Amino acid sequence: MIHDAHGWWIADAGAPALLPSLAGDIEADVVVVGGGYTGLWTAWEIAEAEPNAHVAVLEADRCGMGPSGRNGGFLSSLWLYLPLLRGQYGEAAAVELCEASVESVHAVGAWCEAQEVDAWYREAPHLVVSCAPGQDGAGARAVNGRDVVPLTAAETRAVCDSPVFRGGVATRAGATVHPARLAFGLRERLLERGVRIFEGSAVRALHADRTHPEAPGAMVAETAAGRVRAATAVVAVNAATGRLRRLRNRLTVSSSHIVLTAPVPDVIEALGWTGGEAITDGRALLHYFRTTRDGRILFGWGGGRMSAGGRTGGRMDVDPDIIAQTRRSLDRIFPALADRRIDHAWGGPIDVSPTHLPAIVTLEGGRAWAAFGYTGNGVGPSHLAARSLASLALDRRDAPTRWAWVDPPPKTVPPEPLRVAGATVLRAALARSESAAEAGGRADPVTEALAALPEKLGLHIVR
Ligand SMILES: Cc1cc2nc3c(=O)[nH]c(=O)nc-3n(C[C@H](O)[C@H](O)[C@H](O)COP(=O)(O)OP(=O)(O)OC[C@H]3O[C@@H](n4cnc5c(N)ncnc54)[C@H](O)[C@@H]3O)c2cc1C
Repeated sequence: MIHDAHGWWIADAGAPALLPSLAGDIEADVVVVGGGYTGLWTAWEIAEAEPNAHVAVLEADRCGMGPSGRNGGFLSSLWLYLPLLRGQYGEAAAVELCEASVESVHAVGAWCEAQEVDAWYREAPHLVVSCAPGQDGAGARAVNGRDVVPLTAAETRAVCDSPVFRGGVATRAGATVHPARLAFGLRERLLERGVRIFEGSAVRALHADRTHPEAPGAMVAETAAGRVRAATAVVAVNAATGRLRRLRNRLTVSSSHIVLTAPVPDVIEALGWTGGEAITDGRALLHYFRTTRDGRILFGWGGGRMSAGGRTGGRMDVDPDIIAQTRRSLDRIFPALADRRIDHAWGGPIDVSPTHLPAIVTLEGGRAWAAFGYTGNGVGPSHLAARSLASLALDRRDAPTRWAWVDPPPKTVPPEPLRVAGATVLRAALARSESAAEAGGRADPVTEALAALPEKLGLHIVR
């Protein structure tokens, strides 16, 4: 098994050559900080809305080498989040976001087709499945009979015949993608459209320049070797948002890890899992799994460690203990894989918001906006966030600038070091409790009490 910080998707797609970094001072209409899906889709939306607008993207590494190029490839809508959205924003605003999120799922597919980017886009329902008695009812609160429907045990096993599946729900709109092919394809098409992308260009300061004689209040993004002055700025740095002083108490950073089998077409056939459905289990620290076009099974777990200070890299990218646990869970859900080879394993940081919902926050008095808090569901929602961000950056004042996730009531997390210490204890207890429940038992009373604490306090546990 290859432990690879960048993951198999990026190796399979072939990372493109590094673009030149920013050198000297340039002007733009919009500067985008971060070249993952959020930043790249924002640049795309701006180029579509105003083809003459000058957009500059500043990326610390290479576009798409972060979570955008190495995630599970679940391109999901927000319908499973309806109960959370409703609780935050009320029914009408929640439904508006969910419906727009379905448009994003289809829009990514339409984009791939129109742009001739083969990102393995495949539409299929997304399932949440109970894999133990304690998980029964997972996803049920999102059922509305149209967008999310209930499934019996027999119906779930007809989709994928795991012996532990006990029933669940299916979200009708969903797709899977090859995440790196999507990210690199988007980068390539942006370059073809004339968007300026600078790689190896970490932004170390972003501020308004109030003294500029011609453009007072313009945003200035500074790297080690240059500056971009622009009318507006978009901050799309995902987990690194946790390092920004103004936003550091708006999110926590944990990790998610993936193991990927060698091609196992015979197992997939025997499971009857040939429809391309993406599946998560009903844990709070959830497992997620899907098939790939080349006949592999990808299996991930959101139970990684917490990061202090929003730091990424290291165990956020590759955590051998978490990978070993993820492999054990794979074998539990799919016993037929117990003697099959795992080819690759990797992870990456997750920007977890206290509500589990992404937010778009206005900075610098309305000259800059940051999007973060996808909490492990960012592939589809980053496309949707880009619609809000592009409109805000262009001052278009259309519906996406008024969606409820733009400047929601601020919800904060406890300061560090309490946050990391507390969340680490609670997550470890939750992981032990959920493992014990899957084995048909219960953990010790202290563990169970700790695992139950977040729900009692009305906290959303980091996943
Ligand atoms: C293992 C794993 C599995 C996942 N699976 C799924 C899934 O199946 N479905 C799903 O919906 N979501 C999934 N996610 C989450 C999803 O990948 C993210 O929510 C999404 O990619 C976020 O996109 P982004 O552009 O906001 O962030 P990123 O892809 O992290 O991009 C941010 C970029 O900003 C750059 N950057 C950071 N700091 C600076 C700076 N100072 N200056 C310039 N650039 C900077 C980084 O280098 C990076 O390229 C998963 C995540 C992980 C780690």
